[in-house]
Amino acid sequence: MLDLKIQYHPERFLYTNIDYWWILPKRNEIKHLFAGNRLGRITNEGLLSVETYEGNKNIELAVPDDFSIFACLLTGNDYYKYQYTDNIRKPMCKNPFGHISLSDKGRYVRGFIELFSSLYHVGKFVSNHYWRTLVERLCKRNIEEVYQKLKPIKNKLNKVLPQLLKDFAIEPKSATEYLAKYILNQARSQNVITAETKFDYLFKEFCLERKKFASNEERNKGFDRGEDKNRQDLLNSLSELTEMSVFFQGIKPRCKNCGSSFWYSAEEIKSTIVCRGCKSLIDLPVESEWNYRLNDLVTNAVSYHGVLPVIWTLGHLLSYDFSCCESFIYVPSVSLYENYASKKPLAEIDFVCIIDGKFVIGEVKTNVDEFSSIEINKIINVSKNILPNEVIIAAFYGENVKLDKIAKNLSMHLDPLGISVKSITPPPYVFEPEYHICI
Ligand SMILES: [Zn+2]
Repeated sequence: MLDLKIQYHPERFLYTNIDYWWILPKRNEIKHLFAGNRLGRITNEGLLSVETYEGNKNIELAVPDDFSIFACLLTGNDYYKYQYTDNIRKPMCKNPFGHISLSDKGRYVRGFIELFSSLYHVGKFVSNHYWRTLVERLCKRNIEEVYQKLKPIKNKLNKVLPQLLKDFAIEPKSATEYLAKYILNQARSQNVITAETKFDYLFKEFCLERKKFASNEERNKGFDRGEDKNRQDLLNSLSELTEMSVFFQGIKPRCKNCGSSFWYSAEEIKSTIVCRGCKSLIDLPVESEWNYRLNDLVTNAVSYHGVLPVIWTLGHLLSYDFSCCESFIYVPSVSLYENYASKKPLAEIDFVCIIDGKFVIGEVKTNVDEFSSIEINKIINVSKNILPNEVIIAAFYGENVKLDKIAKNLSMHLDPLGISVKSITPPPYVFEPEYHICI
């Protein structure tokens, strides 16, 4: 037998001098993906080990894509399909998952990450207090604003619900009609989100960020907070982000004829442009103010799929323990189906990854309060069927103590199966103003 240490996609980690390897979970079904029918196994160290034959020194290997690895781990082969059950008279049950696919949310997470040079860089962007809060605000995901918006809706529901519940029993049709109309009206009153902002606003907010940063006496020394320095640093970071297409640069002049303001990208700008509304010519002022528009992919990902916490967690897992990590392979947000033909997923997982050979599944919430008992039961059920080495639960906002308590509860169920449980919340600096904003 020959143990092989295979390097993992060096092109994905050009920014660091750390090498990553295919260190794999000790699940022999993965062996087939690399070595086909050749006899082999995964060693205790997570290395692929294959049999060598006398007279033939060539070993043919395939390098599978990350998704195939996780498809194999999550669905298992026939042997692994027989797993845990609560019913002792039926000691083995079938792993109910026969097919996986990237969920809609997963596609958005992947698209968002691909805009940046790497997971490390997108993690830095999401951890940065200035950029994250700006994106949250532009995408109407700012936590205080969301709570402000929920308040009147909750009040209204509290008022009408008792009657509505009675109506549901007697006249379900008209009660449903009422509720449907109410939801539609609420949806109408929410503006369609086009996340754009003027340079002036970005600059004002950035100066404020640095002012807050320097409110700590110690930090006031040695950090230049002059207007020119602030402007230059912001422009540098913005040019980085426009190069990655996270933001687009443009202008938004007002048409004198019809009064509308449309957005024109930097590439479209000439000395005169045609109004998108009335088609008359607009003369541009010599110095039009730059307007920055967030890439629609980012806006949709953040506004409608709430991807920031998942991206933060993945970035954190990659960079938190850089030096100890020899393998880091991940896929965001997968849906698990009974089989290829099933339309409705049986379960969803926010991310799956392999860290130093450990097979990890993770559930991420924006706020710790979203971990309801129904959610916890779902995690327990999925874990019992998949048998990962570790389950990670993460919450971006909320009290650490609460999440630790949830992790302890989960642990009681999963520890007997040899599954460890870990909880992750952002360290305090993620919520504090920062001086540096370059990614
Ligand atoms: Zn016009």
